[in-house]
Amino acid sequence: MKNKVQFQKGYSLFQFMNDYGTEKKCREALFNWRWPQGYSCPECSSKSYCELKSRPIFQCNHCHHQHSLTSHTIFASTKLPLMTWFLAIHLLTQAKTGLSALALSRQLGVSYNTGWSIKHKLMQVMKERDDSRMLSGIVQLDDVYWGGEYRGGKRGRGSPNKTPFVAAVSVDEQGHPIAMNMNVVKGFSTAEISRWAKKHLNPQAHVVSDGLACFSAVKSAGCHHTSIVTGGGPECVTRTEFTWINTSIGNIKKSINGAYHAINPKHLPRYLAEFCYRFNRRFKLENMLPRFVYVATRMPPMPMRLLRLAEDYG
Ligand SMILES: [Zn+2]
Repeated sequence: MKNKVQFQKGYSLFQFMNDYGTEKKCREALFNWRWPQGYSCPECSSKSYCELKSRPIFQCNHCHHQHSLTSHTIFASTKLPLMTWFLAIHLLTQAKTGLSALALSRQLGVSYNTGWSIKHKLMQVMKERDDSRMLSGIVQLDDVYWGGEYRGGKRGRGSPNKTPFVAAVSVDEQGHPIAMNMNVVKGFSTAEISRWAKKHLNPQAHVVSDGLACFSAVKSAGCHHTSIVTGGGPECVTRTEFTWINTSIGNIKKSINGAYHAINPKHLPRYLAEFCYRFNRRFKLENMLPRFVYVATRMPPMPMRLLRLAEDYG
């Protein structure tokens, strides 16, 4: 039987060029996604406007207020053609594994720094999008450390120089994965897990975890909680309750290590988000780009200063 995800109809580069192969087409698409009801002036609400010839700027015929197509979006003040952005979104959302900033910059024909900036802005959109959704139903939960071996009999827990993150996968009654979320946390304390759960779990969720004490804090977010004490031996990773969470953690480590030479731990939240974003939309390859840009136009701009700082706890 063919794999449902791998053999679905994708969105080819030919189709992309056909739909968004000129700057004009990209501008029209962005305009329609941004103002599906037609443009109306943010100052006076008049729907009568004209477009400047030199730049994609709309001027109100009534009060002469000017508004740019990209202002107040992540494309704001960009000097790049929209087509470059759209192609970057296409490449990042269709790729099966991550695409490094270097590989992306080569594909786009831009400098490494520009490629880095585009990639991190787009990953930030993915992160904010998925952070706004709560997992529900049965949710498998686990503690993971980036930078250390996963589950060498739990030796990784609490080691210095490792970045802790929570891995959560919601599964259906048959145990098949629905959605996942991975967030860097300050540590595995009761307070931190409580904070995380209130942000990322639906209050009705039923959480299944191992015996790590802090996980019972999900109850403060209104969730049910079952902890399964595994004893720490090698058999613990084969328990069916944890099949998907363990598979997902293995996959994300393999994916990030395979695609990226080395990543700065402070940017780990975005790399985790990129992986989860693609996983959560694995059945919807065909309309990834319109959905992405629709969200991106409703998201505040992100200056480079913030992108470089980014100590972002999910
Ligand atoms: Zn106006």
